[in-house]
Amino acid sequence: MTVLVTGGAGYIGSHMVHELVDGGENVVVLDNLSTGFRFLMPAGVPLVIGSTGDRDLVAKTIRQHGVTAIIHFAASIVVPDSVRDPLGYYRNNTLNTCNLVDVAIECGVRQVIFSSTAAVYGNAEHVPVREDEPTAPIAPYGTSKLMSEIMLHDAGKAHGLRFVVLRYFNVAGADPHGRTGQSTPQATHLIKVACEAALGKRAGMDVFGTDYPTPDGTCLRDYIHVSDLVRAHSAALAHLRAGGTSATFNCGYGRGASVLEVISSVKRVGGVDFPVAIRGRRAGDPAALIANVDRIHATLAWQPRFQDLDTIVAHALAWERSLATKRDSAAA
Ligand code: UDP
Repeated sequence: MTVLVTGGAGYIGSHMVHELVDGGENVVVLDNLSTGFRFLMPAGVPLVIGSTGDRDLVAKTIRQHGVTAIIHFAASIVVPDSVRDPLGYYRNNTLNTCNLVDVAIECGVRQVIFSSTAAVYGNAEHVPVREDEPTAPIAPYGTSKLMSEIMLHDAGKAHGLRFVVLRYFNVAGADPHGRTGQSTPQATHLIKVACEAALGKRAGMDVFGTDYPTPDGTCLRDYIHVSDLVRAHSAALAHLRAGGTSATFNCGYGRGASVLEVISSVKRVGGVDFPVAIRGRRAGDPAALIANVDRIHATLAWQPRFQDLDTIVAHALAWERSLATKRDSAAA
């Protein structure tokens, strides 16, 4: 009973691998290392370097390791890049998911957990947004994920595949034990950028838009700690293993923090000040994106532990502090 984690050397995937290993699971990782790093994974976990689009490699990995469930993270995730290169995103995210699921079915795997995104909602009409809200992505990234969700639904009906789709809101923070964290260079995500500014890795940072219809004029997001997020995957796996039906769940906490609240938290927790420039709105940013989390709480045995924004920030800062040393010792 081995779990195949695609993208297991990436930010969220590596937290998943630690969580599974901590829970005594057998794990194999498939990752092309385009944005992932071996040093983020626990020692001793087998890493197959390659693409989810490589049918022979996927089939060989499933058979050799006795894979019974797949948690599929591997994907391209930068929204503006998806606008510049839509076909690349459909190839890497949608076609490769098609390949992976097709080969999985061929090899007898019937349980899949899929990383989706709140971007499938686009500019959601109702906030907090429920899973049955209409999907209307505004960039190819969200569309590429939504198309994968649709494929899973259809393959589920045709082939008896059972799956859980998890729609992530804003994932942040790092492993509380300091084993892994966000390591991609040239980060654009708010908490990572603010942590870099707090540690002097950049001179300051920008706030994109202060004229939104929100309490302080800056955008609201539902920041979820990455460790809680991967525990939602474990709960989803338990649900499938217990014979649970296919389902789609929002993954957030159901509350929003503004850009200014996040920056204050980083300054408070880091005990430093740094320059913050007010800029115009960034294209494509919805004013508020907050999850309705009734369904996940009603269905899965999921107990989040790190809702406190300062805790998320503290873990992100601790990882950011140790990152250079970790990278150097991995390279040595
Ligand atoms: N943001 C910002 N400055 C930054 C990065 C992000 O003001 O340097 C804002 C961004 O405009 C959005 C919020 O922070 O309102 C969250 O952005 P992020 O890129 O972290 O996640 P997204 O919600 O776009 O997936």
